[in-house]
Amino acid sequence: MPLKERLFQTLGKLEKAKALLGKVHPVAGMDGLFVVESESQPGKRYLVDLEAETCTCPAYAQGKTRPCKHQVAVVLSLWLREKRRAQVETRAAERPVA
Ligand SMILES: [Zn+2]
Repeated sequence: MPLKERLFQTLGKLEKAKALLGKVHPVAGMDGLFVVESESQPGKRYLVDLEAETCTCPAYAQGKTRPCKHQVAVVLSLWLREKRRAQVETRAAERPVA
């Protein structure tokens, strides 16, 4: 597939993942496990296992799209959280002492 089409696919997935950001919930006490609410089917939830690199959604199960948008949404949420933390630390380090 040409570069433009490949990147269009990637960016489209990223856009869908961004829309899912508010629907990503870490599973308490289970490191690397996340519940992601389905966007198209209200009430439906999928389980993303970061370590096993799996998702319980149909698209992943059918091997249609890997990583699926739920996996991308989980990693995007972690990335944004780490970025925010780094910014807070930078600001704290820049603050004058006196
Ligand atoms: Zn999925």
